[in-house]
Amino acid sequence: MVNIDELRKKYQEINNPGGANKDNKEFLEKFFMMEEGTSLVRILPGKNDQEFYAETAIHRINDKNYHCPRVKGDKCPVCDTYFNMWKEINAIGKDTPKGQELAGLARQIKSYKRFYMNIVDRRSESVKILSVGQKLFGKILDCFFDEDFGDLTDLKEGWDFKIVKEQQNQQWPNYDKSSPKPKQTAAGSDKEIAEWMDEQHDIHGLVKVAEYEELKTLMEEFTAITRGTSISQESDSDSGSDDDDGYLSHLKSLKID
Ligand SMILES: [Zn+2]
Repeated sequence: MVNIDELRKKYQEINNPGGANKDNKEFLEKFFMMEEGTSLVRILPGKNDQEFYAETAIHRINDKNYHCPRVKGDKCPVCDTYFNMWKEINAIGKDTPKGQELAGLARQIKSYKRFYMNIVDRRSESVKILSVGQKLFGKILDCFFDEDFGDLTDLKEGWDFKIVKEQQNQQWPNYDKSSPKPKQTAAGSDKEIAEWMDEQHDIHGLVKVAEYEELKTLMEEFTAITRGTSISQESDSDSGSDDDDGYLSHLKSLKID
């Protein structure tokens, strides 16, 4: 007997090669791809009195990204595990071999902040999502309080922002030379501005926190593994929180529905 559901699934597979990958590709295309060197963007103000940025914190576990429930004020089993590990590390001494081993493991589950903004990519004059770590976001925010600048997102009298990404031979890129363009300008013509504001992506909707139960199960597995065996860890730098490229490549594994 023919299973209609199976048949329909097969039919869809054949007619939609790539399937989920195609969705993933479309998802990734919404994001601004940062090249090494200089790129120019215009940060757009939020729509309907919303903030111009969305803030989240991400745990990367088993090569997947999970938004920390604490960003919505909920409990997070991963953060709980992390804090408990640090209590233990401090008790046994963080410079002891065991302490260092545990610290290496704790770093693997630590959350790191991400900030999303709608920007105009000046290469294509299209609206993309800029996703940055705390350091680059801090640099952007500083400009708002700098007497030489102000509200960068002002559509009439704001500033374009120059992102300078230097990789050199370092593990993590450096963004220290990023700054607003010195000249105050309108973002575009009235028509362009209206279109861009309309094309904004739902950055606040990107922050979908992970299910408590799922994280709890992950942490039970994590604890079982880390307690059961002595694993030698590769050293992992804390500055990884600003690893934008790494983040984007891991977006591929971000849970989207
Ligand atoms: Zn958390």
